[in-house]
Amino acid sequence: MLSNRELFLMNTAQTSTSPRMVEIERAEGIYLYGPEGQKYMDLVSGFNVSNIGHRHPKVIQAIQAQLEKYLHVTVYGEFVQAPQVQFATDLLATLPHSFQSVYLTNSGAEAVEGAMKIAKRYTGRRQIIAARKAYHGSTQGALSLIGNEEYHQAYAPLLPEISFINFNQQEDLESITNQTAAVILEAIQGEAGVRVPDMAYMKAVRKRCDETGTLLIFDEIQTGFGRTGKLFAFEHFGIVPDILMLAKGIGGGMPLGAFVAPKQIMDVIKDNPMLGHITTFGGHPVSCAAAKASLEVIRDEKLIEQVADKAQLFRELLSHSKIKEIRGLGLMMCIQLETFDQVYHVSKYAAENGVMIDWYLHCETALRIAPPLTITKEQIEAACAVILKGIDIYG
Ligand code: PLP
Repeated sequence: MLSNRELFLMNTAQTSTSPRMVEIERAEGIYLYGPEGQKYMDLVSGFNVSNIGHRHPKVIQAIQAQLEKYLHVTVYGEFVQAPQVQFATDLLATLPHSFQSVYLTNSGAEAVEGAMKIAKRYTGRRQIIAARKAYHGSTQGALSLIGNEEYHQAYAPLLPEISFINFNQQEDLESITNQTAAVILEAIQGEAGVRVPDMAYMKAVRKRCDETGTLLIFDEIQTGFGRTGKLFAFEHFGIVPDILMLAKGIGGGMPLGAFVAPKQIMDVIKDNPMLGHITTFGGHPVSCAAAKASLEVIRDEKLIEQVADKAQLFRELLSHSKIKEIRGLGLMMCIQLETFDQVYHVSKYAAENGVMIDWYLHCETALRIAPPLTITKEQIEAACAVILKGIDIYG
């Protein structure tokens, strides 16, 4: 009989020529477990998903309760489904009053698609501005916003009338005009290698959008749900975007995304033509039950309040002559090394020694550190010891 690893290569689509091939049997808290007794500390959180750890008991309980009631019943937006309504209500209660309506999707990319559509309809404009080195998802609309020429060329033609500015460069903001429907930015650029913008830049983006009647759309798909030490990263910058796109950490480990907007903007998909944005599975009731529980865990366990101290501990411990810089905000951090070779070998060494780390789509010279927010001081110390040893050997 073929092993799961052999079947993985044979029967499931491959997205790279060098998949990591780590087989997972189960996951609990901050740990992933392999079939031969391997135990890994997950410092990647399934790529910024498991903010409250894997299989949090409150999330499992909420999922089980919903399983007893119903799974899928109909397409999004027709029946009144309590898990959707209650989660949307809880989510809005955490946001400024300008956010009045939540559209629930299956994924981040779909949230991006929906947000782009409502921005175009509402403003009656077509042009969208995104940032170089951005990543917003892999569907063709979201991919049109990727600030990387290689992907544009490979999948051309993508959406027209999209242009790019350099992230965190105020002089580029002049290209936002009264023809621009929306500026779409990650609150902190993730796949660029965790680039935190300046407060002054964020305020200038907001100001320029206000001057030109352009909608400001923030992608908080990686940064949301406590990751940076606030529930949403925009709270660090003293500005409020017009539309917010969410996914990853939103569902407590279940697939879910959302775009959130003022009611008058969201209402454009209601008619003329009606059903302007449809999804069969978006806002799945089981995912919404998990999302509601996850939000409660973040609040009840005061996870956000602990982020700054935990991040500080990482920064203090990760002191090494081969580390060029530690960038980030809260527990969205990266360790900048010199070469991909170092990154590859340190990651490999770390995995072999029970610590899972990774790198970034647009930055292969830095190590990705984004542990569950539930990680303890002792676990941080143990993880950093392994990473430092890896850097000693391979740095
Ligand atoms: N936006 C950002 C910042 C992301 O990091 C990602 C995924 O990595 C997406 C959007 C797309 O989300 P999804 O993979 O759920 O479509």
